[in-house]
Amino acid sequence: MAVDLATAPASVASVTTATHLASEDLFDVAVRQFNIAADVIGLEDDIRRVLSHCQRELTVHFPVEMDDGSVQVFTGYRVQHNSGPGPTKGGIRYHQNVTLSEVRALAMWMTWKCAVMNLPFGGAKGGVQVNPKLLSRNEVQNLTRRYTTEIMPIIGPNVDIPAPDVNTNPQVMAWLMDTYSMNVGHSVPGVTTGKPIALGGSEGRTEATGRGVVFAISDAAARLGMDLEETTSVVQGFGNVGSVAARLIAEHGSKVIAVSDVKGGVYNPAGLDLDALVQHRIRTGSVVGFAGGETVDGPSTLELECDILIPAALEGQLTAENAPRIQARIIAEGANGPTTPEADEIFSERGILVLPDIFANAGGVTVSYFEWVQALQAFPWTEQQVNERLREVMHRAFLAITEIAETKQVPMRTAALVRAIERVAEFTRLRGIYP
Ligand code: NAD
Repeated sequence: MAVDLATAPASVASVTTATHLASEDLFDVAVRQFNIAADVIGLEDDIRRVLSHCQRELTVHFPVEMDDGSVQVFTGYRVQHNSGPGPTKGGIRYHQNVTLSEVRALAMWMTWKCAVMNLPFGGAKGGVQVNPKLLSRNEVQNLTRRYTTEIMPIIGPNVDIPAPDVNTNPQVMAWLMDTYSMNVGHSVPGVTTGKPIALGGSEGRTEATGRGVVFAISDAAARLGMDLEETTSVVQGFGNVGSVAARLIAEHGSKVIAVSDVKGGVYNPAGLDLDALVQHRIRTGSVVGFAGGETVDGPSTLELECDILIPAALEGQLTAENAPRIQARIIAEGANGPTTPEADEIFSERGILVLPDIFANAGGVTVSYFEWVQALQAFPWTEQQVNERLREVMHRAFLAITEIAETKQVPMRTAALVRAIERVAEFTRLRGIYP
């Protein structure tokens, strides 16, 4: 969409504390977004009914033996939203607040994300209600192996392919891949992506989501006539996505003035030394207390005056409550679902460009697709090839979404959803309703 930045106020109220308002049922949010785009398309009711439901949902309650010999029971989910376009694909999240509604929403967004990027996958997501930071490495391994075994009936390299998400990483994927392989009696590297490179993981996968976020921003900035060298950025979440996005946007010349994590934020108007900050985070487990900046309240960083805001933590961070105080010109959604529909409306009215999650953070699933292709062909690519192909896929998607946004005069999220839903609807029509 051609956003008129002149209508966006140059500076708003001083920094105040935002509240985390993810109280709304997340799947309702996903369905509301879907319906907005379905209305724009004029999608027929039958297809609308099919696509607004998740196809398959598995809930598991499973025991894990802890280091002290006690047995704890954990609850986990694996949800597949739609397998029309191909095997389903989506990460696994370990977090104490995981719910079935959240996993459903994330699965639906994965369907749209894969379709926006033209990948041959449907969407899925998994999660376990656990705070893995309270577990030992051995306990996390036991939990991963048992959860994998419980969801085995519905995953597989041609069925449903997990990947890392919040609080999971290449090591967790290695345990998942090994558990699946042990159960079927032979090695199946294609059952997961985001594996360690030694096990058939792809070069560039760990950085792919953050890298894709920055590709999206640089395309958007060019479109808006913004010179990244003259911009400031704020990043919420300093994990896999946020830390990489922060480093790469800084490499493009943007001054990263604040970052936050679950424990709080750190702010330096002259720009943070990100290498030193990473070292501090590795040493202390948080960005809080970093000597190269002032420690501040985490949510308040969202409202700092900046050009680019990258929410890269969890959903429900930008709401009707804090949206009027957001001062960024571009919001690039590294996280899934960080913006509520009410906040979307406010940003649209204020001329703030939102690069939606199903496009902006699709670098991860795109390189996961590359990893899956490399595993099937047993033919690894170089990091340069991976990054160049990612750049190309992101750029093509940006152009396609922008064109829809301009012709239909809708925000980028709706435009991305229109592209995605039209594609998945086409699969549904062509395949027909079985039996
Ligand atoms: P991660 O576990 O590596 O990092 C999460 C970060 O968010 C941590 O720094 C954590 O401290 C911080 N955080 C958590 N709650 C917070 C809060 N309330 N305020 C501020 N910071 C908070 O997870 P990740 O893989 O970087 O995922 C982050 C987001 O990106 C999630 O929404 C995830 O679904 C999405 N995402 C991840 C990938 C991927 O490839 N890992 C791909 C697409 C989307």
